[in-house]
Amino acid sequence: MTDRKDELAANLAKVEQRIAAACAAAGRAREEVTLIVVTKTYPASDVRMLSELGVRHVAENKDQDAAPKAAECSDLPLTWHFVGQLQTNKVRSVVGYADLVQSVDRSKLVTALSKEAVKAGREVGCLIQVALDAGSGERGERGGVAPGGIEELADLVARAPGLRLDGLMTVAPLTGEYAGREQAAFERLMDLSTDLRRAHQAANMVSAGMSADLEQAVAAGATHVRVGTAVLGVRPRLG
Ligand SMILES: *Cc1c(COP(=O)(O)O)cnc(C)c1O
Repeated sequence: MTDRKDELAANLAKVEQRIAAACAAAGRAREEVTLIVVTKTYPASDVRMLSELGVRHVAENKDQDAAPKAAECSDLPLTWHFVGQLQTNKVRSVVGYADLVQSVDRSKLVTALSKEAVKAGREVGCLIQVALDAGSGERGERGGVAPGGIEELADLVARAPGLRLDGLMTVAPLTGEYAGREQAAFERLMDLSTDLRRAHQAANMVSAGMSADLEQAVAAGATHVRVGTAVLGVRPRLG
């Protein structure tokens, strides 16, 4: 059996090559794109090895897995991103370790995040999750607000104590007009980011692209890609 750390190092090198090639193809500097490794379902020991291999950003999507893992890894120089659908009763726990929440998609969640961030004396970075397949006034099946709802939510985050509006996040839709058209979806997210930055100049993060479509995200202008499977392997369960 190969050593896990060697395996992670080899996978990271491959992902790094893919990002570098995508940046080169798009005429972008490699530094414009930050790799976030999605460690969901994998143990704290993997997070530790990734940190030793130079990873600085990790993401999780379920508080019950993430909270103990983050506690075990609290000595590491990592930025923790929360990327899953978030219920308000989990907000207090998530605010305890997450530096950024990328899945902000409703006003109730903004209120809860603000309250707990203030209580904890922390500033939490927020990305509005956009559901490109949701109709106006709807939310996406996997969370996210329809494009028409971004502005109101962004203004709310920007005014909320304890929160910082950092930008937008999306997952390529499986249904609707963008199904199978990842790059078009990510280009649409970039347009929405341009609109957002008219009122909120500093909210310049664009989080898009996963293992299967990071090239399309980099081509469209994403600043952050969220990669799980290509670094850690195929997850044994849905997560
Ligand atoms: C799991 C997950 C990822 C990573 O997906 P892979 O296909 O494993 O790279 C990215 N973003 C979100 C929101 C996720 O839940």
